[in-house]
Amino acid sequence: MQIPFFSHTREFEAHREEFLTAIEECLRSPTLVLGEHVRRFEEQFAASCGCRYGVGVASGTDALALALRALGISAGDEVVTVANTAVPTVAAIRMAGALPRLVDIDPVTFLMDLATIEGALTRQTKALLPVHLFGNPVPMTELMELAEKHHLAVVEDCAQAYGTLYEGKPVGGFGDIGCFSFYPTKNLGAWGDGGICVTNDKELAEKLHRLRSYGYREPHIAEEEGVNSRLDELQAAILLVKMRFSASDVQRRQEIAKIYDQALQGTSLLPQKVTVGGKSSYHLYVVQAPDREHAGKLLEQQGITTLVHYPLPIHLMKAYEFLGYKTGSLPVTEEVMRHILSIPLFPTLTDEEVEYVTSALQNIS
Ligand SMILES: *Cc1c(COP(=O)(O)O)cnc(C)c1O
Repeated sequence: MQIPFFSHTREFEAHREEFLTAIEECLRSPTLVLGEHVRRFEEQFAASCGCRYGVGVASGTDALALALRALGISAGDEVVTVANTAVPTVAAIRMAGALPRLVDIDPVTFLMDLATIEGALTRQTKALLPVHLFGNPVPMTELMELAEKHHLAVVEDCAQAYGTLYEGKPVGGFGDIGCFSFYPTKNLGAWGDGGICVTNDKELAEKLHRLRSYGYREPHIAEEEGVNSRLDELQAAILLVKMRFSASDVQRRQEIAKIYDQALQGTSLLPQKVTVGGKSSYHLYVVQAPDREHAGKLLEQQGITTLVHYPLPIHLMKAYEFLGYKTGSLPVTEEVMRHILSIPLFPTLTDEEVEYVTSALQNIS
């Protein structure tokens, strides 16, 4: 049996008529940019996160960069985040002109170690940027207390965490702004790029509206320097269809994760631990293996695609050498990176495929 890591075509086949109808309707609508579909999607999406406002943008990276800019973060400011994330988290901080301060992670949840934050604060620190990695939530109550104590803004990187709960509440609504990506493989994926900022603050929402569209206060009149970063109308139409089954998709992810968790008991593979008080949406199912190469090879031999998220922590990448970190700067991050392996988990995996992966996992001693 061949198990892919992800498939968007299965989803298309399963909902073909709904998608094609939505696309046709979109192409017949009067406005092709920032029209009715984007507006409706923003409203539905924000409500699903328990937030009042949603501002659709061109990507998750842009969502983060514009969120930081909306909060007034610019050159000379510092933003605290982790090196154990996708590059765009850090790229977005740079796009806003700020400097990332990278802190270490917890060895079992793989998330920002909150105990290291205070040591990373300087007079320039303006914001915390927690990443809900692989769908596992950062303990937001504690993080918000730290932010309040030190008067810091909070931007949540929820790119991998649509459907994630912390203390019963969806992530994205804890901080000032929550940022999501609709990259095709994400929990709610478009058929191309897209992203959104959610917030409960009307002024921030208005500022984000201006920033994503040339800084326009009204047509053709810029109030401030903006960019062109809009959620595409066609992608919004597709996302509106996907919203109908996004909750059951997350449930299916959680169901498969539970089966994998049980299968791993008694093996040498250790799954990412879900944060106490949290409910993961399992964007990725990541395990730690004592011998990652060996485990990966065994699974590959049985036709199971595995990946590593991520092979190199950001502070050790050439592009970010200038930040001045070295091997040993973030010891937990570096240790975890040597052992992590991502196992296929997506909602359209069949029961037979899940069982096949399960028995392959159990044979890894
Ligand atoms: C995907 C991702 C992003 C960026 O999203 P894009 O839509 O690809 O720009 C940011 N942060 C994390 C953690 C991601 O996984």
